[in-house]
Amino acid sequence: MSTIDHKTTAADQVVYEGSSLELENVTLAYGDVEVVREVSLRVAPGTTTCVIGPSGSGKSTLLRGINRLHEPKSGDVRVAGRSVLKDRPDELRRRIGMVFQHFNLFPDHTALENVALAPWKVKGQSRAQARQVAEDRLREVGLGERMDHRPRDLSGGQQQRVAIARALAMHPEVMLFDEATSALDPELVKGVLRLMADLCRRGMTMVVVTHEMGFARKVADQVVFMDEGEVVEAGTPDQIFDNPRSDRLRTFLSEVL
Ligand code: ADP
Ligand code: MG
Repeated sequence: MSTIDHKTTAADQVVYEGSSLELENVTLAYGDVEVVREVSLRVAPGTTTCVIGPSGSGKSTLLRGINRLHEPKSGDVRVAGRSVLKDRPDELRRRIGMVFQHFNLFPDHTALENVALAPWKVKGQSRAQARQVAEDRLREVGLGERMDHRPRDLSGGQQQRVAIARALAMHPEVMLFDEATSALDPELVKGVLRLMADLCRRGMTMVVVTHEMGFARKVADQVVFMDEGEVVEAGTPDQIFDNPRSDRLRTFLSEVL
């Protein structure tokens, strides 16, 4: 198993060593209804995979299956070659960080407390250690001056940065983003996308569900197109955006581009 090694290369410059992520024939269901069927996926260490597809195609369910917010019905999920299906929930949350559309911050806690809480409570670090980690991560996402603000006193973009810092504070091996910029005012989207591109550049392994086709084209190593619970096509951004093979992908692209 690989552990994350946060090396400081410059003042606030952190290099990540993201792990590989593999999905093998993952099926997810609500009751008897299978909404993700037999999805297999390989994400190489330090690369970014963007998942695109129409609303209701199973993208969120797939992400939730990776960190077992939704327990897969069958198949396997491996991080650094090791199945996560038997991990304890707290162990799993350390290995895989997740960022949601609606930040899910604790409203009555400051940015610093929001980020420090999991390292302290889940990871068992001392308060001082957790505080230090939180300060470092908040500086890293550009919020060094806002640590004592509560969510309501931060913009949506800043709240999302806190949520990203909170996930990073657990030193995850893989980061999952579910439409992380969809709830933001348009002028705040770019800053959060830039931060995500920055994490990618510094070696984090990421799976990003997004409607931002520009981001997918520019940042992704791999783009996965889902429709009706299945991976219809996967390839490089050039293959997916410039040479779609299926009618379903062509139709989707004609609607979003
Ligand atoms: P996407 O993120 O691509 O929009 P979702 O993963 O949210 O798609 O949804 C995939 C399918 O699962 C949809 O048909 C949706 O209606 C269904 N679904 C999502 N959440 C639930 C739920 N809690 N109970 C039953 N069906 C659900
Ligand atoms: Mg969704």
